[in-house]
Amino acid sequence: MSIDLPAVRRKLEEERAQLLSRSIPPPEPARGDEADLAATAQAKEQSQWLANDQKQRLAEIDKVLARIAAGKYGICDSCGKPIAPERLEAMPIATLCISCQSKLEKKRK
Ligand SMILES: [Zn+2]
Repeated sequence: MSIDLPAVRRKLEEERAQLLSRSIPPPEPARGDEADLAATAQAKEQSQWLANDQKQRLAEIDKVLARIAAGKYGICDSCGKPIAPERLEAMPIATLCISCQSKLEKKRK
């Protein structure tokens, strides 16, 4: 099983374009009511979280696209061994092999 690089790149570029085109709705202007103010603050927080999430996703996609361009796609960032194609299939933006990823997750716990 080998990795279809052009297909991976196309998929990532599509997702990137989608993320960039998705605009974050501006929060409703605050009205006098306290409940409204709280709702506005919550909506604002939510849109900020979305923005951060999208930014993070974009950064990940850019990183992977750069790796594809550099011919390093599918190589583990930590140990330099090839990442299993099955893993890349399930998670195209993976930059660590399964064993390095699980080591990292154990460390975080
Ligand atoms: Zn590794």
